[in-house]
Amino acid sequence: MIIESTLRPDNAVRRITVDAGDHYIGTIKAGQTLRILDLEGNQAADTLFYNAHDTSERYSAMDTLREQGAVYLTAGTRLISSEGRTMLTITADTCGRHDTLGGACASESNTVRYDLEKRHMHSCRDNWMQAIADYPAYGLTKRDITHNINFFMNVPVTAEGGLTFEDGISAPGKYVEMVAEMDVIVLLSNCPQLNNPCNGYNPTPVELLVWD
Ligand SMILES: [Zn+2]
Repeated sequence: MIIESTLRPDNAVRRITVDAGDHYIGTIKAGQTLRILDLEGNQAADTLFYNAHDTSERYSAMDTLREQGAVYLTAGTRLISSEGRTMLTITADTCGRHDTLGGACASESNTVRYDLEKRHMHSCRDNWMQAIADYPAYGLTKRDITHNINFFMNVPVTAEGGLTFEDGISAPGKYVEMVAEMDVIVLLSNCPQLNNPCNGYNPTPVELLVWD
């Protein structure tokens, strides 16, 4: 569902550019709005959310899909935690839909899907691990790296129930925006994947904007 935001970038309290293939970890306070902006288009942003006060409570794809009765995320979607509570609500979306079925790229999946030679290629899982190692104050460990959201990624479910990775439906300047319903940690990998079309084979930067 396409819903445009009324928030203006010049009023944002934080603006962070996440370079192509890079990562970000930070806190979004309850009531703040986070926008993820696909600056150049066709870029996947692999994202995890945690309760900032108890990181054992985290985003749950399964609970989110069951509660909304649909497989894609878009405006109106409530992002549900492993405790069944709403963590964030998507309030604006100019892309139209986002994936939470496909998972994130990893050394292991690159090896299985593409080639043994791809084992050492930069991946989202490595990005998350780097972020939590660089910022131990968030209290996240390897065990907390779980199922994620792929903002802007196009993973259509076929009529037969299959999953396919397809060319993105995002474009330069498209964004998704969500309001935090609790204090959350956002852990984001700006996907460095080069072997499937999730980034158009060309990783590009995204921008994060936060409003009070
Ligand atoms: Zn990735």
